Amino acid sequence: GLRLLQVNSTAYGGGVAELLTTHVALLNDLGIQTTWAVIEGADDFFAVTKSVHNGLQGMDVAWTPAMESIYRERVKANAEALDGEWDLVLIHDPQPAGMLEVLEERGVRGGRWVWRCHIDLSHTNERVWSFFEPMVNRYDTAIFTLAEFAQPGLTLPLAFIPPSIDPTTEKNRPLGDEAVRVVLARYDVDPERPLAVQVSRFDPWKDPLGVIDAYRAAREHVPDLQLVMAGSMASDDPEGQEYLRRTANHAGEDPGIRLLTDSDGVSHHEVNAFQHAADVVIQKSTREGFGLVVAEGMWKGKPVIGGNVGGIRLQVADGETGFLVDSAADCADGLVRLLGDEQLRSRMGTAGRERVRERFLSLRELEDHLRLFESLVS
Ligand code: UDP
Repeated sequence: GLRLLQVNSTAYGGGVAELLTTHVALLNDLGIQTTWAVIEGADDFFAVTKSVHNGLQGMDVAWTPAMESIYRERVKANAEALDGEWDLVLIHDPQPAGMLEVLEERGVRGGRWVWRCHIDLSHTNERVWSFFEPMVNRYDTAIFTLAEFAQPGLTLPLAFIPPSIDPTTEKNRPLGDEAVRVVLARYDVDPERPLAVQVSRFDPWKDPLGVIDAYRAAREHVPDLQLVMAGSMASDDPEGQEYLRRTANHAGEDPGIRLLTDSDGVSHHEVNAFQHAADVVIQKSTREGFGLVVAEGMWKGKPVIGGNVGGIRLQVADGETGFLVDSAADCADGLVRLLGDEQLRSRMGTAGRERVRERFLSLRELEDHLRLFESLVS
């Protein structure tokens, strides 16, 4: 009977939308009346919030009074448009974080408020964070994936809950060889040649250029290696197109590289097929809150080479389920080692799937949330 509102900034593309799709359904099944609202904003707002995202992950971005005004104005409009009553409100990431302040100033707070931060705050830009910190301190609790993301100026109670993947979705369910082959054929990927896959938004933190460098270095030793990079364009990510262009320029005319997006028809089933087909899954991020794609790759029994950062470190057991790497050269070494050793791939893939089963499936995350909700409303 608990009434729960969850608010984020996009219904499609990116990990939070992925998580909410599963959680909202399961919470409703459990009898928690859960509503999912997506904030609205024009291009100027999402340009500002992308700068916020970049700034909070440590980039030296411009941060001006005009940007603060755009943020406050749009958040106010969204807060005022909220219609309903809730016992608990879960606000995801910085985009809607200021809504509580708006409602408190109007004297209509209602319920308990939780801020869920999905991004990597380990190297945050002080100017941008100091704008958000007082907003966050108004909440009843903040949830982070890792203790290292909690900032020293936070005065509210904190909870640490890693995200999870849903093994029953179109993206994560088992696929037969034939279904995988059909997808590979559609995108002209040769099932007989070795394949490395990175599934990620085209974004500087996902280091797509570094992935191409690693592929090129590995190809010196594995000449028939292929690389698929698939990235959907999230509606709250205005940098996607520009970064895709930069990645395409870096890839040049290399026939071994496929750069694909949702406009090529790559959706959940296709991502599933590429992850199934991969010999090695790569996630070479330079910052990462969690990285659902790491768990997705491990769940398909694949060794994962991940950037040695943030939430990837929580998932990849270095040397057991894949490798944690600090450079394109290390990534290339990992690729060459794994592609030359089928037994190692199989051993790491099996260990990775088991690790996800134990720690990173939806029901564990749901239980963690239920425990937190109970402590907040009882
Ligand atoms: N994703 C997808 N299609 C793509 C690229 C990504 O469906 O072309 C999905 C991916 O499978 C994962 C989510 O989007 O479920 C990305 O979540 P993650 O936590 O890895 O990164 P984020 O985009 O939230 O930074």
